[in-house]
Amino acid sequence: MLLNSLVLILALCAFPGFAAAKIRVLLVDGQNNHKWVETSPVIKRVLEETGLFTVDVATSPAKGGDMASFRPKFADYKVVVSNYNGVPWSDAAKADFEKFVRAGGGFVSVHAADNAFPEWAAYNEMIMLGGWGDRTEKHGPMAKFRDGKLVTDDRPGKGGHHGKRHSYEMVTRDSKHPITRGLPEKWMHNMDELYDSLRGPAKNIHLLATAFSAKDTGGTGEHEPMLFTTQFGKGRVFHTTLGHDVEAMKCVGFIATLQRGVEWAATGKVTQKAPADFPGAEKVTLR
Ligand code: ZN
Repeated sequence: MLLNSLVLILALCAFPGFAAAKIRVLLVDGQNNHKWVETSPVIKRVLEETGLFTVDVATSPAKGGDMASFRPKFADYKVVVSNYNGVPWSDAAKADFEKFVRAGGGFVSVHAADNAFPEWAAYNEMIMLGGWGDRTEKHGPMAKFRDGKLVTDDRPGKGGHHGKRHSYEMVTRDSKHPITRGLPEKWMHNMDELYDSLRGPAKNIHLLATAFSAKDTGGTGEHEPMLFTTQFGKGRVFHTTLGHDVEAMKCVGFIATLQRGVEWAATGKVTQKAPADFPGAEKVTLR
């Protein structure tokens, strides 16, 4: 017994990470109509700064490349974060990903990742709502926050739109969820697109936060879902519509909700405290 204890102590000294294994995150990118070469390192850095995660990056071939060669080993990770909005993956990669989430793997969709794969049914079920990619009412209803609850709206039309980029107020709609617990009810998000009129299967949406899409910024005049979660098989999914570019990603609100969302998708829990510099309703805070 004494010898076993001694070996364990030596192991802990040699490998401090042994004491609390970090959560393995796979960030997927490689194609996006957004500047993924700039934003992926930001996503990796803000996750690793928590001390909770190690992040590997799987970069697909560029558009026109051989997508059959892109087959990330999803199953080696606890959670996949997507910064990908490009051509369809191979059937094999899609099947691997579906199997991964169904079996309990976490998935986090960041901003334009919800523009990807309009024809991939399981993916759209995971993200619940998506935009662009020629999405219309055929891809499902919109979801709006009206009279205190999230409702679907099956009016025909395009899926996905945003007005002028601006800083806007986020409103927490569930303060008991691990991702939003302890965060202010209202907080200012820095210079970003405010996605509206997303469409999709819209099934089992657990709404965390909305933002008001004002008509004077080119929006809908409705409260739009911004942060939401669901369960797909045994897997947890967190969808953040925020994060158009590096500027938007400087927002402490974006950073903290991403850090928490990734931990929750991976483990079902959030151990991170709300940061002291989290924005309030008055002004944005940046890092
Ligand atoms: Zn964007």
